[in-house]
Amino acid sequence: MQSEIHSSSSLSRRDTLRLTFGTLLAACLPGIAQAIPTRSIRPAAILNAIASQLPLIPRSSWDRTPPNRARLSSAGRYSRITVHHEGTSPFYATSHTYVARELRTILGSHRARRYGDIAYHLVLDYTGRVWEARSLSYEGAHVLSNNSGNIGILLLGNFERQLPSSAQIAALDELCRVLRSSCGIPRSRIYGHRDLSPSVCPGRQLYPYVSQLRHT
Ligand SMILES: [Zn+2]
Repeated sequence: MQSEIHSSSSLSRRDTLRLTFGTLLAACLPGIAQAIPTRSIRPAAILNAIASQLPLIPRSSWDRTPPNRARLSSAGRYSRITVHHEGTSPFYATSHTYVARELRTILGSHRARRYGDIAYHLVLDYTGRVWEARSLSYEGAHVLSNNSGNIGILLLGNFERQLPSSAQIAALDELCRVLRSSCGIPRSRIYGHRDLSPSVCPGRQLYPYVSQLRHT
């Protein structure tokens, strides 16, 4: 994680104006509209692609409080993926109730640090379920000075002290495949946190799998 980047709420209004302008051009002058950049990410489409391949649990099923949008930055095009571990106590819970409680604990700790929302975009639990976290409409806050265009994936657990489950590894592989396909991210741009800043994250028992995703 890193300190949240503060941004003006006018960004969302600018995005809206850009979308409106692009939509009008597409309707009236499709040839010209193709040359006008419009919104470069489609969070709903990315989530739909994930849900078509993996069990995806929506944010609303574990937390219904709104983010502090004044502390969030609108996301542009995603061009890389960074994998993290939780790094606290080993965590093996499989029930919806316990995982949801854990996510709310993480969210609470990030809010206490004045983050606009939980730092990561997507979370994988021990069973390989994908939990929607921070909206993909906003940049994450998970790597120091490296959040631009960077999708943050958190695996629950401490992989310095436990092994990831085979279900988590399989889900991570599939999730990265879907994100790469949806966003046009090259394999070479899949990172562990420690590749981008001084950290043991995502842990010595998980990092080899992340490295494998990048190289094979
Ligand atoms: Zn990390």
